[in-house]
Amino acid sequence: MPEGDSLHRAARKLQVLVGERVAVETPNPRAAAAVSAATLDGRRLESVEAVGKNLLLRFEGGLVLRSHLRMTGRWQVVERGAARHGKPWLVLTGAEREALLWNGPVLELSARRTRRLGPDILADPPDLAAMVANLRREHPARELGDALLDQRLVAGIGNVWKAESLWRAQLSPWLRLENVTDEELERVLAEAARLMRGALERGREDRVMYKHAGRPCPRCGERIRSRGQGDDNRTAYWCPGCQRGEGRPAA
Ligand SMILES: [Zn+2]
Repeated sequence: MPEGDSLHRAARKLQVLVGERVAVETPNPRAAAAVSAATLDGRRLESVEAVGKNLLLRFEGGLVLRSHLRMTGRWQVVERGAARHGKPWLVLTGAEREALLWNGPVLELSARRTRRLGPDILADPPDLAAMVANLRREHPARELGDALLDQRLVAGIGNVWKAESLWRAQLSPWLRLENVTDEELERVLAEAARLMRGALERGREDRVMYKHAGRPCPRCGERIRSRGQGDDNRTAYWCPGCQRGEGRPAA
């Protein structure tokens, strides 16, 4: 089962193709629907890294292919032209070797800045507009709480300040980005920046949500809820009474 360490192993195997121009095919029709091989074909593979439970393959021109292996996916590196049995999802062929993705249930191609980290939330002043722009480039169905922890979009927000800033901005972590306005994104980022700077300067953290599940919300009295969110299943805290958006139903 692909946990973090096996993803790191897959990333290491794929390093043999880094720096090469690769031919790209999507023999499996489901993969062909997700990724246009023509867009990637002939581009140089710039890097492969494991991030959370994803493998990110960066191609020249700022294109990033995300491969999430779920329970069944597997990357294999073989000699170029080796016999195959079945239809791999994706084949990247270099001069001497080829990488094959078998049963890769999540494949997604996006254009992203290749810079590793987003703007620093603790910069003085923080570049909120650039952070909003990064969040806008994400998949519109991505949940706000999950996206706020993505260090490539905004660097520095952890699980504590995610919970606290979303509560102050009165937005649910379960809102999809497509249902959040730019103004709301800016509001939650400004709250995170303000809270984190305060904690940095005063050395005191005013927490009302983080690890407060089951207690009454200080604003509306509703019971604070918690549940794992995102690929890494980090615990999200929210008040269904006064944070706008879907509360995820109880399991
Ligand atoms: Zn509340």
